[in-house]
Amino acid sequence: ATPTAVMVGVGKGAEQGILIRNAESLELARQIDTIVLDKTGTITEGKPRVTNEWWLDPSADIKGVLKGLEQASEHPLAGAVVSHLQGITSVPVSGFQSHTGEGVSGLVTDKTYFAGSKDMLSRRQINLRPDLLQQAKKWQAQEKTVVWFADAAHVLAIFAISDQVKAGSAAAIATMKELGMQVYMLTGDQEPTARAIAAQVGLANAEVVAGVLPNEKADFISRLQQAGKKVAMVGDGINDSPALAQADVSIAMGKGSDVAIDIAKMTIISSDLGKVPEAIQLSRETIKTIR
Ligand code: ADP
Ligand code: MG
Repeated sequence: ATPTAVMVGVGKGAEQGILIRNAESLELARQIDTIVLDKTGTITEGKPRVTNEWWLDPSADIKGVLKGLEQASEHPLAGAVVSHLQGITSVPVSGFQSHTGEGVSGLVTDKTYFAGSKDMLSRRQINLRPDLLQQAKKWQAQEKTVVWFADAAHVLAIFAISDQVKAGSAAAIATMKELGMQVYMLTGDQEPTARAIAAQVGLANAEVVAGVLPNEKADFISRLQQAGKKVAMVGDGINDSPALAQADVSIAMGKGSDVAIDIAKMTIISSDLGKVPEAIQLSRETIKTIR
């Protein structure tokens, strides 16, 4: 009867829009006590758009360089920047590089340009002006992600990018907690933005881990496991794949990247976070039937 009950559970999951890879995944889900959520595309819609900009030199040429750079990137933030620069002719960029969790870089006539996080620039000793830092802080307090555009020495522009919290995220997180789960939000975005979004979905500062690179996301999960926790990781991006691979149960958002879905033990077709506590409940009910 055991395999049959599990099969029924997997079937029920499919009816609820939760694709479960195998019986083992469902059994592991029952043991989960900690849920780690990616921010972008998991808690938020993952549909970023530029709301504010500050150019130090607003010439069409320099805007074209940024457009050329971001056109080469697959990151959702890059898409927001490119849409925003509609009407600007992009300048061809050579030597394009994607620095996972940080941003992108490329060359135009032997000059290097960067688009990415503040940390990406400070790691490269690029001068961050105090007035820009102050503006960035204000935008972050409004839950906006700040993207920096710079050459090898100076900042050229900064952008505020807004990504709405999904309608069901707060309720889903509340249900996870009612089920006894410890919940964390994990993000490559900077702490002020992360905390502002977390507050909107009922997560405290202590439940937020920000400014982490993809391999550091996996390390965070591994530390929880070393402390005896059974961890589910919910993510949607390529940058979440090391963390998904490390987790006891990995859950991908159906609208996310193929890489995340390929790795994951479960996929939420609708990308609705409310399906995550449903999956945990389903695993508990299924295993109860077996015993
Ligand atoms: P998350 O964990 O929220 O999915 P990522 O690890 O993908 O975030 O990205 C972390 C940060 O790196 C972003 O908040 C952004 O500042 C920067 N970044 C990454 N790629 C790009 C890009 N193509 N253009 C601009 N900024 C980028
Ligand atoms: Mg993401």
